[in-house]
Amino acid sequence: MNPLLTAGAAGLRRLMEAGEVSAVEVTRAHLARIAATDDKVHAFLQVLDDQALATAADVDRRRAARESLGPLAGVPLALKDVLCTRGVETTCASRILEGYRPVYDATVVKRLREAGVVVLGKTNMDEFAMGSSTENSAFGPTRNPWDLDRVPGGSSGGSSAAIAALQAPLAIGTDTGGSIRQPAALCGVVGVKPTYGLVSRYGLIAFASSLDQVGPIARSVGDAALLLEAIAGHDPCDSTSIPTEAPSYADALERGVEGLRIGVVTEFMDSKGLAEGGRTRVEEAIRRLAKLGAEIVEVSMPHASYGVSAYYLIAPSEASSNLSRYDGVRYGLRLPGETAEQMMARTREGGFGREVKRRIMIGTYALSAGYYDAYYAQAQRVRTLIIRDFEAAYERCDVLVAPTAPEPAFPLGAKIDDPLAMYLNDVFTVPSSLAGSPALSLPVGVDEAGLPVGLQIMAPILGEATMLQAARALEADLDLDVVPHGARTLEAR
Ligand code: GLN
Repeated sequence: MNPLLTAGAAGLRRLMEAGEVSAVEVTRAHLARIAATDDKVHAFLQVLDDQALATAADVDRRRAARESLGPLAGVPLALKDVLCTRGVETTCASRILEGYRPVYDATVVKRLREAGVVVLGKTNMDEFAMGSSTENSAFGPTRNPWDLDRVPGGSSGGSSAAIAALQAPLAIGTDTGGSIRQPAALCGVVGVKPTYGLVSRYGLIAFASSLDQVGPIARSVGDAALLLEAIAGHDPCDSTSIPTEAPSYADALERGVEGLRIGVVTEFMDSKGLAEGGRTRVEEAIRRLAKLGAEIVEVSMPHASYGVSAYYLIAPSEASSNLSRYDGVRYGLRLPGETAEQMMARTREGGFGREVKRRIMIGTYALSAGYYDAYYAQAQRVRTLIIRDFEAAYERCDVLVAPTAPEPAFPLGAKIDDPLAMYLNDVFTVPSSLAGSPALSLPVGVDEAGLPVGLQIMAPILGEATMLQAARALEADLDLDVVPHGARTLEAR
């Protein structure tokens, strides 16, 4: 195994700064890894070999000239195909956006470029980020590097699988109801959903605008924190962006959990849908945190179980409005019709996949006159109750812990014809999405079948530092191998 593939972002940065390896060599190693493994994993929709090598060469040239470099100069990254990249096809894994080349970079992409990141390519996802398995991609599913017959989770399945397969040390995902945390859990990597408004959504193709957030995926808490620092901070182009300085997490990572009050959400731990193997690992992790000096507090979130119902009204409602822009006139696909109306209907019929159509219909129905109060407005009231549950919980503790996902990676096809079963993947992740508060998933070991289990750590609004602090302390204590076992056998298979 090429050590450049396992070094991680911080490690690669050190090697490049010490002059032991060039950005071009680092980039070549990762492109070669993608070439060797991605026919099996299919994490990428598009690999940008030439662009990546040109960026890396530029970093090397500037380093040689002693010019000032960004904090992630020469570090490769996999970018979810939901973020606009200037001149580079951006599809959201949808036929309706095939051929769409944005004329601008998303703010996150702009910041990544300023940080010196080398974008390796655009990763696969559920169409318009709707799903939990990446099977809703119009371009074929991504497979879990731990077991190629299983899903990587979703919707950021491509980004998470790329990290687990050692195709990149860093990736960008997006999370509306769990799409960073759940695939991170299923792929045994670290995924962080930041506070709503901490990272700009400008140039992020909208799914549900009151929930969407961009965040990092990596193999270590430290690397995820580095990437979050690079993308966070106020952006005048996004009206929901919080007017705050770009954060710094380095100190928090060293603090340990001594004296930290960690709340365990009773309703989540008692959930009937939680797989036994996962429950065992999560309970062990909580015991470890206690041994490290944290104070464990039991907390109740009585409305959390309504989260999925509220989310599956709010998110589709916002989606039905956001996706009305795909009419064959301005973006991507156009299927001809005799009238403008026929052209639009045919384009939408042919361009959207089944799940996207289902959401548009649910959302349109929930927002329609006569049903608005019973569905959308009611869901918003539930959202408020969940926010209050969190407020009460955080009066008694600094962070909350829970499982990330009810089940480990499931076989491809297992839930694709049962939307309700698929939606239930989100039970533990949607509450903090509805509250706009940060949450991450940390790998805490494997279950009896050898599949990774994630622990979710949640924090109050803008509590990223404390959340990362707890995650880093537990990560250090667990001392798991950063190389997922699947990644090691991938080439041989
Ligand atoms: N699985 C959830 C859904 O399908 C969450 C998706 C997301 O966070 N983008 O809506």
